[in-house]
Amino acid sequence: MKSAGIISVGNELLSGQTVDTNTAYLGRELLCADVQVTRHWTVPDDLDAIAEALTLATQSCSVVLVTGGLGPTDDDVTRQALASFLGVDLELREDLLKELRRFFKSRGYPMPQRNEIQAHIPAGSQVIPNDRGTAPGIKAVFKGVPVYAMPGVPNEMKAMLDRVIKPELLAVSGHKIVVKKLKCFGVGESALVSMLGRKMRRGRNPLINCTVDLGVITLHVIGSGTTLQEAEFLVEQDLVFLHKTLGDLVFGEADETFGHVIGRILHERHETLAVAESCTGGWVAKLITDVPGSSGFFKQGWVTYSNESKVQLGVPKKILETFGSVSEPAAEALALGVLKKSGAQHAISVTGIAGPTGATDSKPVGLVFIGTASEQGCEVKKYLFTRDRASIRLRAAQSALHQLWKGIIL
Ligand code: AMP
Ligand code: MG
Repeated sequence: MKSAGIISVGNELLSGQTVDTNTAYLGRELLCADVQVTRHWTVPDDLDAIAEALTLATQSCSVVLVTGGLGPTDDDVTRQALASFLGVDLELREDLLKELRRFFKSRGYPMPQRNEIQAHIPAGSQVIPNDRGTAPGIKAVFKGVPVYAMPGVPNEMKAMLDRVIKPELLAVSGHKIVVKKLKCFGVGESALVSMLGRKMRRGRNPLINCTVDLGVITLHVIGSGTTLQEAEFLVEQDLVFLHKTLGDLVFGEADETFGHVIGRILHERHETLAVAESCTGGWVAKLITDVPGSSGFFKQGWVTYSNESKVQLGVPKKILETFGSVSEPAAEALALGVLKKSGAQHAISVTGIAGPTGATDSKPVGLVFIGTASEQGCEVKKYLFTRDRASIRLRAAQSALHQLWKGIIL
């Protein structure tokens, strides 16, 4: 596997005004082109700083990717820095100038003078066409190390990477790469990593990487082979192992969410879902309705924060007085109430203390009860989430969908 260095250029990246998402994206995507990012520099829009990073990167990596600083304004100096690093002049390319003029004409106004700089590239380097904006990318080779400079605008950078750079890197590597993703929930990252043991060691083929977002762990299985079949075979073997080892901790593949997998099951069975949420304030409904076509299986949702609204859905006053609204009996009565009132086949209720206020001696911040009901009965589970209000609410919403999913796949 080749090693890559990434140089992200921009004052705004250093001042914190823009979060550098390009580097993270490149790190993930390059693995699929048989390239591992081993170094990263963030530098200001400054000729010397960019040239210094280029020197270090070309010394320590087998390919270098630069993003940012190719815009038309005076502060964008990446192309000048690249030319001076290569020891060549910037050359006007008539074909690029024509293309730029055409770009502006198609939008109905003449090309501003300052955009002319974007038709210049360091002598001897190649143009990487930009089909989404005015800044062409540049490919240069320094002492055998390819250097790709791309615009900072994420969607322009992504398009160039996919269309030109990844295929080039893959062609050089001579390897075929297959990437599959598994979505897991219900266990912490470190517990999952220890379940997989040496399968996750660096340098192994397939490489298994793991990322976490809102409690959902995504396992990336990246297989490399001299043929596509070989890479696929290796990845399939690992998937079999992962499913066997992780069981129902795995809920989906690729970019699936709970919304997708639950939606698919309900759609197939012609069944519907309704929810009542306090604590999560509508997040369960949001996660479900993020999926296109959700109106086919999502019947309705209530956001029930007051006791009165819970009573309206059929929670007996006596339960609220005796056990409180954050309690197992309240969650159960709420889920059963939702089931009856909505006429859906499945119901979810969430009640909890998201904090930072509202805790009592017996009910700490993060205590959440989730009810899932169907004609088979009602299950209530108690959870204790940690951290801040936002993560407690999001973890609770994901856990509600996880609990429903486990109930309906049986
Ligand atoms: P530039 O190519 O430097 O003109 O960048 C254009 C715009 O792209 C900037 O204003 C940023 O909003 C965005 N951008 C630049 N670099 C990055 C980066 N590393 N990650 C995310 N966005 C970026
Ligand atoms: Mg910039």
